Amino acid sequence: MKHVDEYRDGKLAGAVARRIAAEALPGRDYYFMEFCGGHTHAISRYGIEDLLPGNIHMIHGPGCPVCVLPIGRIDHAIRLAALPKVTLCTYADLMRVPASRGASLLKAKAAGADIRMVYSTLDAVRIAENEPGREIVFFAIGFETTTPPTALAIRLAEKKSLQNFSVFCNHVLTPAAMAAILGDPDAKAEDAIRVDGFVGPAHVSTVIGTAPYVFCAEQYGKPVVIAGFEPLDVMQAILMLVRQINEGRHEVENQYIRAVTAAGNRKAQAEVEAVFELREAFEWRGLGEVPFSALRLRETFAQYDAERRFPVATEAAHDNPACECGAILRGVKKPAECRLFGNACTPETPVGSCMVSAEGACAAHWTYGRFREHISAASAAGPLPAPEAGEGIRTTRRAAS
Ligand code: SF4
Repeated sequence: MKHVDEYRDGKLAGAVARRIAAEALPGRDYYFMEFCGGHTHAISRYGIEDLLPGNIHMIHGPGCPVCVLPIGRIDHAIRLAALPKVTLCTYADLMRVPASRGASLLKAKAAGADIRMVYSTLDAVRIAENEPGREIVFFAIGFETTTPPTALAIRLAEKKSLQNFSVFCNHVLTPAAMAAILGDPDAKAEDAIRVDGFVGPAHVSTVIGTAPYVFCAEQYGKPVVIAGFEPLDVMQAILMLVRQINEGRHEVENQYIRAVTAAGNRKAQAEVEAVFELREAFEWRGLGEVPFSALRLRETFAQYDAERRFPVATEAAHDNPACECGAILRGVKKPAECRLFGNACTPETPVGSCMVSAEGACAAHWTYGRFREHISAASAAGPLPAPEAGEGIRTTRRAAS
């Protein structure tokens, strides 16, 4: 299939892997964070780490929108769904994310709340149009990629003069999260992570372009290479990062030229700008409160803002203390370092959000068997159950550096 097969070519991947091994300096280590869950998924699925020399370390970033949503926002959505006449529309991933006290949207639905899975924002608008007696609240989450469709839905609701449509807005911003990772002066010693460069977002960058990452290079001296989600995209990006570091450069480069431009999609940006404004701060799972890292509806669109329209009580919510999602999303730990991984926590029985979403690091490691090397290393600590066979499972092995 065009635009797929050529980016999964095994011979080419072997050639790029040999180039990376030849160019990575044996006397140093390279720590690269792949920001997106899509990259984490590709790295796990195609065994990319197995093809890298041992001194190149991939760190999973916070780029999974379901994973970074704090538990309090799920609680909030459940409270909205419990209001009379409210129908909460949401994407499927969110249904199983654990909320406080063992709750979830799926359990709330089973208990009688009107919660419906939709495939697009326009599905929610259509429901509002067809059911004027109900209040339709769309649970909007995601990075810059999914924000324009939410803006369009609000504009469409306005055009149709719908009085019963609103949005529970949880859209977050990628550059702000990268800044939080690079510049957290409060990071405790055990939380300090070394990031030498970023494999930058793919889909997000089709919307915002490459310019918003320049601060990483200019303020923090960290290279960024925007990369597509296919395995050869990721490998080429790693090679480009190695070259930047070896040459003492720190620039924003674009590997994903078939989809990303410097300016991004100006039409989508204009739609977002018209409807949303910055929140002063927003809580992220793993990163805590990050300034100017999320969006809310502008005053002009207040009637479509579910938070203003349906004030519900909120209370402090806490993740399961045994769940290491926060540390994984900060890049401090790997999934297999969580003691619940593969025991209490599997995709069938997720304890944390990183095991629910297909983009979550825990789900990716479990699905593609990326934990086996950790199991062998940790066998002294007690056996873990054998994984179910799954696509792409293979013995993990690193190529010699
Ligand atoms: S394995 Fe489960 S409990 Fe552990 S960090 Fe991942 S999602 Fe949380």
